[in-house]
Amino acid sequence: MTSSGPDAWDYIIVGAGSAGCVLANRLSADPGNRVLVLEAGGSDAHPYVRAPVGFLKTFQDPRFNWCYTTEPGAGVDNRAIFFPRGKVLGGSSSINGHLYVRGQARDFDTWAQLGNRGWSYDDVLPYFRRAEDRSSGSDAYHGTGGPQHVSDIQERHPICEAFIAGAAAAGVPRNADYNGAVQEGVGYYQRTIRGGRRHSAATGFLHPVRNRRNLRVESHAQVLRVEVDGTRATGVTWRQHGKVYRSVAGAEVILSAGAINTPHLLQVSGIGSGERLRRLGIPVVHDLPGVGEGLQDHYAIRVVHRVTKPITLNERARGPRLWWEIARWLATGGGLLAFSPAHVGAFVRSHPELELPDLQFVFTPASYSDGVVGQLQREPGMTIGVWQMRPDSRGYVRARSADPDAAPAIQPNYLSAESDREAVVDGLRWARRLLASSALEPYRGPETLPGPHVQSNSELLGYARAKGATVYHAIGTCRMGSDPGAVVSPDLRLNGLSGIRVVDASVMPTMVSANTNAATLMIAEKAADLILAAG
Ligand SMILES: Cc1cc2nc3c(=O)[nH]c(=O)nc-3n(C[C@H](O)[C@H](O)[C@H](O)COP(=O)(O)OP(=O)(O)OC[C@H]3O[C@@H](n4cnc5c(N)ncnc54)[C@H](O)[C@@H]3O)c2cc1C
Repeated sequence: MTSSGPDAWDYIIVGAGSAGCVLANRLSADPGNRVLVLEAGGSDAHPYVRAPVGFLKTFQDPRFNWCYTTEPGAGVDNRAIFFPRGKVLGGSSSINGHLYVRGQARDFDTWAQLGNRGWSYDDVLPYFRRAEDRSSGSDAYHGTGGPQHVSDIQERHPICEAFIAGAAAAGVPRNADYNGAVQEGVGYYQRTIRGGRRHSAATGFLHPVRNRRNLRVESHAQVLRVEVDGTRATGVTWRQHGKVYRSVAGAEVILSAGAINTPHLLQVSGIGSGERLRRLGIPVVHDLPGVGEGLQDHYAIRVVHRVTKPITLNERARGPRLWWEIARWLATGGGLLAFSPAHVGAFVRSHPELELPDLQFVFTPASYSDGVVGQLQREPGMTIGVWQMRPDSRGYVRARSADPDAAPAIQPNYLSAESDREAVVDGLRWARRLLASSALEPYRGPETLPGPHVQSNSELLGYARAKGATVYHAIGTCRMGSDPGAVVSPDLRLNGLSGIRVVDASVMPTMVSANTNAATLMIAEKAADLILAAG
């Protein structure tokens, strides 16, 4: 590869994140396909990435993270909210919270009903199974032998056990597998962890095949623009260590740069709303108004209690106990360093007349200063977080200038929809109900956030506006569909151009009732079949 002339490939994959790693693996399985993967971030061989608890470190570390910030939002007291995105091999799957949650069958049936044929639950379940290597074995819902390891939490913390017992007493059924026949209920989270180590999409899909001769993976390689000739995408221009290169794709350019960077890259390449691009002085290559519009995300709010016994993760994360935990993790893969931001989940219907759960809870025997992920508190604490699973608020990702290095404007418009504001208040009331159980009595200290003075609906909403944060589940900015606002067709081809697809979280037409990594892996598995069938 030289900076003087372009080099030629069949497929160029932009971004080695959750989706890009799946595609790299599947498309290069045929030695006849020449596949180039360009990843802006660097190596994932770092203890902060490998140790599950390292998410506390990578969360704000620009070596692994794009470290974006949202635009101030009217619904969130005009706060700009920190918005992490993975920038490393494995992408966000290398810095995420490891929770493996697929969503409800209805989510995917809704995609199909919106006109996206081939995306119903029956259509996509085989792809979830194909990707998976479930530690507890296969069944009608789970797969074994796939690249993505999924395991159950081994350590049964007494406070988690008490939380589950209390939730069950409050009418939330115990559910050993929320990824199985029924999502509703309470139980331990399934996680993308193997032997106490993070099992990212890079670990599962990319590293095992990196020695394939027809696959080339370039890290620290940022794509600056997509090249288009007439109505066909022909390749990309990219930069590595200050040098600029051109690479040509004989078959397809595949954008897997994630729900923020994929629409941004399209826009700086002249593909997006013609009117907005002209205002920025970007020559319009293809007028496609939906690019970057329709951003959806989960907005979480937390309730925190002191704990009366020194058995929470807070105390284990400092002083001599931390050294002991590090030694334990190195020897056994267990203990504090193998922990995730949440241990127990609950999927709950806020009102009994609802057909399906609308609230997701994350519970952990730990607490952070100010209630958001970051520094663990000194005193023992426990935290429950909640979000509405299928929010109605919609936002956007828009380039601010023609400069590919300038961060785009990210506006999720959290809590702009009335239904979302009602759900967040319902969620906080439910969170308190779950923490008030008699099973948690032996551990429960006073509520520190929002605090007992916050009681009325308007006070609860005020707290949500002031203290809520992203759960990092951006989707929908290159939505699939067949309406004028859609960006890709149901086979993920960019509308109006040939030789280019989008394959990542940005194509989801509506939010899944889940954290978004599992569905992104599934999308890429299915996309690989679509691409190979066309090739
Ligand atoms: C902090 C955090 C915690 C999360 N926790 C969970 C969780 O517990 N469970 C869950 O299911 N989901 C979680 N998620 C969400 C989930 O990880 C993402 O939805 C999923 O990884 C998205 O995959 P993707 O392929 O769309 O994008 P990413 O995985 O973000 O991949 C995009 C890749 O493209 C690269 N890239 C971007 N622009 C360019 C460019 N111009 N040139 C070259 N490369 C580029 C990026 O560096 C990145 O590596 C979390 C996300 C974050 C950020």
